[in-house]
Amino acid sequence: MSSTSNKKWFNGAIGTIILSLIAAIIYDYIKEQPILSTITTISNNIWRFIKNLFSVEIQLWLIISLLLLYKIIKWFYIKVQKSKIPELPENLKNYKADDFKNWKWKWDWKWDSNKAKWKIINLWPFCKKCDIELLDKSNFIQSAMKCPKCEQYFQESKIDDSKGVESMIYDNIQKGRI
Ligand SMILES: [Zn+2]
Repeated sequence: MSSTSNKKWFNGAIGTIILSLIAAIIYDYIKEQPILSTITTISNNIWRFIKNLFSVEIQLWLIISLLLLYKIIKWFYIKVQKSKIPELPENLKNYKADDFKNWKWKWDWKWDSNKAKWKIINLWPFCKKCDIELLDKSNFIQSAMKCPKCEQYFQESKIDDSKGVESMIYDNIQKGRI
């Protein structure tokens, strides 16, 4: 080996050792310095923040906000729906009672926004003779209705089907019988 190549080898070895030393120092510095502990602190803080986010107070606050939001949306929805209700036609305004089979029937009209038409609600039978609301005397054995005034008693076979009455009311309107 020539002295020049010896020198090159020596320089290379020294260079490698110095570089290794610098790398070791940097590694130790990073290890010693609070970089990792800073990361740990940050992650701990993030975790604490997440935990706080789901704490009771935050949950309560969220629930209250959601409830308020629901109330506001509902209020707007009702307002919009109400503004859409058309006026009750004259023929329906006057047609809220009629006689069918055994009884007199009374009802109210309500706008059905889904079907965009007026529907019957609160349909209830009345005593034809006394014009009084019949009492439901049904039990788990049989269906029965009774007039509180004349005490006429209607058992199963004499009870009119309210669905059938409803159909007859709609039929009367459709065919212009009212
Ligand atoms: Zn009666």
